[in-house]
Amino acid sequence: MLALGIDIGTSGVRTAVLEYGELISEARTPHLTQDPANIDAEKWWKAVRQCLRMQGQALRALGRDLSEISGIAVDGTSGTMVLTDTELRPTSPGLMYNSKGFEAEAAIIADHVSGPHITKGGNSALARAMRLNKLSRSEPSHLMHQADFIVAKLSGVGGRSDYNNALKTGFDPGPEKWPDWIEHVFDPALLPVVHSPGEQLDEVAPDIARDFGLSPQTTVHAGTTDSIAAFLASAPLKPRVAVTSLGSTIAVKYLSPIRVDAPEIGLYSHRLGDLWLAGGASNSGGAVLKAHFSDDQLQTLSQAIDPAQSTGLDFYPLLDAGERFPVNDPDLAPRLEPCPEDDVVFLQAMLEGMARIEATCYRKIEALGAGYPETVYTAGGGSANSAWTEIRSRALGLKIAVSKHTEASIGAARLVTL
Ligand code: ADP
Repeated sequence: MLALGIDIGTSGVRTAVLEYGELISEARTPHLTQDPANIDAEKWWKAVRQCLRMQGQALRALGRDLSEISGIAVDGTSGTMVLTDTELRPTSPGLMYNSKGFEAEAAIIADHVSGPHITKGGNSALARAMRLNKLSRSEPSHLMHQADFIVAKLSGVGGRSDYNNALKTGFDPGPEKWPDWIEHVFDPALLPVVHSPGEQLDEVAPDIARDFGLSPQTTVHAGTTDSIAAFLASAPLKPRVAVTSLGSTIAVKYLSPIRVDAPEIGLYSHRLGDLWLAGGASNSGGAVLKAHFSDDQLQTLSQAIDPAQSTGLDFYPLLDAGERFPVNDPDLAPRLEPCPEDDVVFLQAMLEGMARIEATCYRKIEALGAGYPETVYTAGGGSANSAWTEIRSRALGLKIAVSKHTEASIGAARLVTL
């Protein structure tokens, strides 16, 4: 019983094959070069096909075969989307998750939704979907997030999404419906039917099964976003488990028994089965470290840190003014003073500041009634820094757990047997 996960990440496509939950094989393909102003979604599918062929080769080298795959799930870059016709051909260019400047569309949304809302702002996914409509070359039939597009190609059926990809487009996973007001800003006929991540949809299309040597009984499952797939790879799906991603920014995700949302601080809950994955991100993180130290310096200086001996400094490391979570203050100034003469102390004070920010993120979630983490796993570039881990452990009052895997493709494969 093999499960296949397909991750459409920012740099390329990756696949992972799990046997009874254990990783047995992986493959990867870089994305095909694209003009950012004219993204062709078919190239995502082409890269997936290439990666599937490589995955087939990797399995055969182990004496295994794609025909043993029982189910497939896909994760994609959240917020990346395209419009297609009934034949699943793109009618618009793709718009990437980080494309922005949809102020005109955002103003229309703001006319219909009061207060802070996930669909608001110039880089909102719903505003992006509205722009796609204007860019469409012919009559569209489906709005598809990146993962939906691949699910459609694999199954031969369009018009389906999952709670996670659809959240930022406006779908409400509580009552499981698109909000009533959405029909005033976007043609509801184009909106996907939304499924629970991991839910079995149907079998792979017969031509796909033939092309790749998959069994015609291989099931296709509803997918998720890349960051949720990375969470599923990193941690067990249990209440009060958290994953902190120490990349360019500090992103926290916490599996809560209840839904907590605070859009004014960029905190949202994604639905995952009976649980809610609450997540938010601070602007502090590795990007600030990178602005002051090389990777080599980070390693050498970190080794000289004594985490038990606090610097007593109160830094709030930011690249520029402005913070959203755990405090919403667009004018919050970076605090990196008084500047110690010793670089080791300077770095330690930054790591202590970031550890306090991380702890405050989890305390904010706790204050909303969701509880405090029992276990925190770590992903991202900063996870290898043992001095930081110890400083964080003190600030959080918890032992930090080590993730065996962090690849989103592995999390996507886990969705198949959820
Ligand atoms: P992203 O995908 O957000 O760019 P990564 O997970 O690749 O981030 O992590 C890169 C970040 O990790 C960089 O910003 C860098 O400053 C930080 N980093 C790299 N090495 C270390 C280290 N030894 N200690 C702390 N941070 C580190």
